[in-house]
Amino acid sequence: MRFLADSMLGKLARWLRILGYDTLYFRQGDDRDLLELASEEDRIILTRDTRLSRKWLVPTLLIKSEQVEEQLSQVVRRFSLEMEERLFSRCPECNLLLKEIPEKDVVERVPSLVYETYHEFMTCPECDRIYWRGTHWENIRLRIAGL
Ligand SMILES: [Zn+2]
Repeated sequence: MRFLADSMLGKLARWLRILGYDTLYFRQGDDRDLLELASEEDRIILTRDTRLSRKWLVPTLLIKSEQVEEQLSQVVRRFSLEMEERLFSRCPECNLLLKEIPEKDVVERVPSLVYETYHEFMTCPECDRIYWRGTHWENIRLRIAGL
């Protein structure tokens, strides 16, 4: 299941990526571009635009809330998304799947305390960011559990 979030739903797109779901964020372009992209790539449109949600035959979910946690909750319930299985498998910025990176390759690239504390690191093939399951990720887990 893949998604295309409209320009008002950038935060929701990041959260869906954190859950591991392939989600594009449509920053600019007109409705027709959005609909074409969704149709070509077989993506479900997530939108806050009632007009758009009624206009076309592309599968669309009208997002009701302005709060990102309620938005995520709506999508998770509607499509019965898996919350744990693919958590943290995708770059929240780029939408690409993360790859494991050997510990020795990050020694110069993360703070020394992080290097001493954590032993598994992931990297994004696009932006080259390094990820590890630190306190930030624990906080995310808690927020997701709160849903
Ligand atoms: Zn990235």
